[in-house]
Amino acid sequence: MPDHAPHLSPDEFRVLGHRMVDFVADYMGSVSMWPVKSQDNPGDVLTRLPESPPEVGLGASESPADAWGEVFDDLTRIILPGLTHWQHPAFFGYFPCNASGPAILGELLSAGLGVQGMLWQTSPACTELEMRMLDWMAEAFGLPACFRSDARDNGPDAPPTGGGVIQGSASEATLVALIAARQRWRRLQHERVRAHENNTGEIGLAVEAVGRQFAVICSEGAHSSVIKAAMMAGIAEGPDDDERVWQIATDSRGRMDIAHLRSVLEERAADPARPTPIACVATVGTTGVGAVDNIAEIAAVLRGSNIWLHIDAAWAGSAMVCPEYRAMIASIERADSVCINPHKWLLTNFDCDLFWTRSRHDLTDAMSITPEYLRNEASESGTVTDYRDWQLPLGRRFRSLKLWFVLRHYGLDGLRAHIREGVRLAEMVERFVKYDDRFELVVPRSLSLVCFRVVGPDDLTTRVIDRVNATGKAFLSHATWPGPGGAPRPIARLAIGGTHTREEHVRAVWILIQQATDELR
Ligand code: PLP
Repeated sequence: MPDHAPHLSPDEFRVLGHRMVDFVADYMGSVSMWPVKSQDNPGDVLTRLPESPPEVGLGASESPADAWGEVFDDLTRIILPGLTHWQHPAFFGYFPCNASGPAILGELLSAGLGVQGMLWQTSPACTELEMRMLDWMAEAFGLPACFRSDARDNGPDAPPTGGGVIQGSASEATLVALIAARQRWRRLQHERVRAHENNTGEIGLAVEAVGRQFAVICSEGAHSSVIKAAMMAGIAEGPDDDERVWQIATDSRGRMDIAHLRSVLEERAADPARPTPIACVATVGTTGVGAVDNIAEIAAVLRGSNIWLHIDAAWAGSAMVCPEYRAMIASIERADSVCINPHKWLLTNFDCDLFWTRSRHDLTDAMSITPEYLRNEASESGTVTDYRDWQLPLGRRFRSLKLWFVLRHYGLDGLRAHIREGVRLAEMVERFVKYDDRFELVVPRSLSLVCFRVVGPDDLTTRVIDRVNATGKAFLSHATWPGPGGAPRPIARLAIGGTHTREEHVRAVWILIQQATDELR
């Protein structure tokens, strides 16, 4: 039994680290040789893994660096076959999940520094680099000044009101927005009650706020994470709770139907017996078809209501690095919060969701709690940002490093080139679909997402997708879209924008789609 744990020495780590970097570089260079979608069946990876952990580890051997050879063998034997290769250039499913060399180096460094950035004091660089990166990205996307960390909506000498933070995912960002929305509703309610009491001397109005039921508004095209967030926040009772999640119909292009939003609000919000709407989540780039809700019109309907407007731009938001796509977010200054995932389409490894708010105190009021062991002078002084109060967990990784490296390596010019190439390739596919009468474009292309169906019986599109995916040479995913009678029909989604995707890969998948269609028709 060793009397101390067998740590890797810095030199042993160096040897293995170089080897691991070689492994990753080889993987990047050879990923296109793998079938895109894992060919494993359920349980296959489990059967390749031992049932119990090793009692004596490789670190106990004479030369751990040599002994680790078996780990590298196992990576190739056990893990790689069980991967769906998201970085494969012919991965066109869901939305891309961009990894890139600079971001991978940022991840390595983050792990190597081993920092836990819950408070400013626990690593000032972790907090302040993140603040600066969120301001850089706000500028890169053309976001209004109210979302910057130095925004002071209440006057130049008042505390800052805006700012951004890295969340793990857009789902977390939505949950945080709902929690902040509820907090703001309560704050405004208390202010109203206090004003009433002061003006009239009457007390008792506060009872109105007790046991209040809340509701969240989104469109039928919004991501399921909105309903999930409402469930987790204790607002909705379950996924089908349409009394507390008001799903607004979508128009012929998949956007929130403004007339329906207006009528739902008029009918329900006026009824005191119904839950109070506290938040509306608008989507810029829906998951199914990439539809972009009209922020200006939604904000106009919500005006004066105190409903928190959160913009979920998880995928499409990255395109705003290009000024020509910023029309999508016109009127975003009227939103209370917005999120964008560089981990989808902006060359920054998962996990990296950027979340901005113009109302940081509603977040921190809802999520700040300070037990004695977290008290410190810097936090008490009120001059620093403690990001633990802007998110669900206490602990946090040093995620801004990877974003910093991405920005320094690619520059905004390089990021714009990546986005524009994705859109250019999607325009090419759009033309392929339009000029081939075997296919039908169901909605207009959205940025780098093309949604189409195969002309013929509804299941033909699904069968074509399955056949293409079974070749292992490409991967597509599906969604549904209303057919002529309004019933949902399957559609194919070709989501372009992978780090390594080039024109040749897009042309090749189109040939596969044509071949599968001819074989199945
Ligand atoms: N919102 C939209 C519009 C999405 O497309 C997605 C995922 O594709 C999400 C939210 C969820 O993203 P995340 O995995 O970051 O929670």
